[in-house]
Amino acid sequence: MSMDVTGRTIVVTGGTSGIGLATAKRFLEAGANVAVCGRDGGRLDAALQNIEATFGDERLLGVQCDVLDKAQVKDFAAAVVDRFGGVDTLVNNAGQARLSTFADTDDDAWREELELKFFGVLHPSKGFQAALEKSGSGAIVCVSSLLSRQPEPRLVATSAARAGQLSLIHSMARELAPAIRINSILIGVVESGQWQRRFEVAENAGNDYDAWVRQQAVDKGIPLARFGKPEEAANAIFFLGTPMSSYTTGSTIDISGGYSRHVG
Ligand code: NDP
Repeated sequence: MSMDVTGRTIVVTGGTSGIGLATAKRFLEAGANVAVCGRDGGRLDAALQNIEATFGDERLLGVQCDVLDKAQVKDFAAAVVDRFGGVDTLVNNAGQARLSTFADTDDDAWREELELKFFGVLHPSKGFQAALEKSGSGAIVCVSSLLSRQPEPRLVATSAARAGQLSLIHSMARELAPAIRINSILIGVVESGQWQRRFEVAENAGNDYDAWVRQQAVDKGIPLARFGKPEEAANAIFFLGTPMSSYTTGSTIDISGGYSRHVG
């Protein structure tokens, strides 16, 4: 499944690690111009070096930007338009989950989580909206979570925030059509920087990351018996972020290896 997207410009927030990095490479491979952002300068430089080793830097832009800072997002959007002349696809990917229960999530943590999940979509979508409207085939893809439909008590705030975010995306789909399509992928578990960090602080994790990941998949009872790979999420993002999915908006693709237990 592929499509030549030469001349198309793709923006990936949180494109310096995991799913975002794999997405940047997926689009570059198909000929697109790609802009990535992240907060940490060191991680950004390392990601750019990694990408440039295969694709060079002619179709690549990296900008240090926190998606929760509206002014930084505005500057990021201006830099992308300045460099590539427009924007065709925005991938709202930046973020992470919060492991916490109802008992141990304090008010500040609730606010932080709600801010990340709502403004992580709102600021970039508004910042790039004008450019996407001019594209003629503008598309936004939001990297969301199965938790939006299947909450887990040990991820109480993330689950609630993801459910609200999905509602927001459905409303946006009606309002932004027909100029911009907006869809989401719902991740179960995909190997990424997030899981590497959880492994590093997990009790009794041992020192074999791959073995720990395999055991996590068994413990969770994932029917496909493994975690997903960032490239598998990137393939779904590619489909939703290009005219391959030109008649799809307000929709979701499940990337959970069968972990989803809900119907519909
Ligand atoms: P990674 O930690 O590997 O990557 C997260 C990326 O987001 C990094 O580039 C990080 O860079 C960036 N980022 C985080 N916060 C911000 C911010 N405020 N502004 C700009 N960039 C930011 O994780 P994943 O690839 O796993 O995560 C990608 C998305 O997928 C996230 O939204 C996550 O919640 C979602 N997801 C992932 C799941 C999984 O199992 N992997 C499950 C469900 C959802 P930096 O820290 O330098 O800013």
